[in-house]
Amino acid sequence: MACIYGVGGYMVRAAISLRNWICIHLLFLMIAPLLAQSSATEGVLQIEIDSSIWTQSHRIRWPSQSRVVDFVYSAAAFRGIPCFALRPSSRSSQRSDEPFATADKIELMLGEACSRLFVLFNNRRLVEAAALNKFFIAHHESFHLAAQFFGAEIPLDFLGPRPVLDSGSREFLEWLSQSMRLDEHGGLVLTEELCPAMIRRLGYLGSERVDAIEHWAFWEWPAEYYMYKLMSAQHGSGYADYLVFRESAGDAFVYAPGPVVGVWLDNKLGRKQWQSDYISGKSMLKLMVSACGSSVIPDRIPAKVTNLKFDFMR
Ligand SMILES: [Zn+2]
Repeated sequence: MACIYGVGGYMVRAAISLRNWICIHLLFLMIAPLLAQSSATEGVLQIEIDSSIWTQSHRIRWPSQSRVVDFVYSAAAFRGIPCFALRPSSRSSQRSDEPFATADKIELMLGEACSRLFVLFNNRRLVEAAALNKFFIAHHESFHLAAQFFGAEIPLDFLGPRPVLDSGSREFLEWLSQSMRLDEHGGLVLTEELCPAMIRRLGYLGSERVDAIEHWAFWEWPAEYYMYKLMSAQHGSGYADYLVFRESAGDAFVYAPGPVVGVWLDNKLGRKQWQSDYISGKSMLKLMVSACGSSVIPDRIPAKVTNLKFDFMR
């Protein structure tokens, strides 16, 4: 029986045909015992979303009663998942030295399959670089999948390819990281009066650069904030540990503002309020700028989709 789940990046599952519905359920019945085994397999972490850190976790549209993301990070576990064939994703930019049987070009894939949420992460160098790395990565990527793709409305502007950040955008983000940081206890340290300086700098950048920065901020800052707070709570890792991980993972300039802006928003608006605003389609940069009393960042139209599904079956 051939079950077709579409081609391309992601598709909106607005309507599921009866045939596909049968396919999905037959597949689940066939693979459920194997998945139960795989959850205990080395190379798979089952990741929950902590509602004390992400207060909107109740809004996640889990595809079944399972309330975890399966984070798969070893070649053996990767090959051991029987229910889908893997196709290279558009983000398969690097090749691991571990030869994966069916997915050797994939670095990262996120999606729903067999009524479960999966993150497949194939970068052995990064996973093994430090003892806590796989947990940092697992919480970051699982957040993308559950809390964002399956738990938020996404502005249409931010559904396309990620824009390149030029030197002016990079300079702004580096300035932001220098102007606000966290101490080892997670307390906020500001080195200058942030609001007027930030609004002035965003004004100089122009709308195209601001759009590009906001695109990255929308996706990455909440995932970084969540990862940092979760790792502090569950593994006792401090801000310095976070920075070591982030420097090793690359492009720290665009990610590192996330935890600090998140704590700033916790203090300024309250965690529940800003996170509720976020899942209605407002980026953390937009929330911060608005809290500073500026409208330099425009309102966006959130995508009115209720179930966004990455296709990684064929
Ligand atoms: Zn990310």
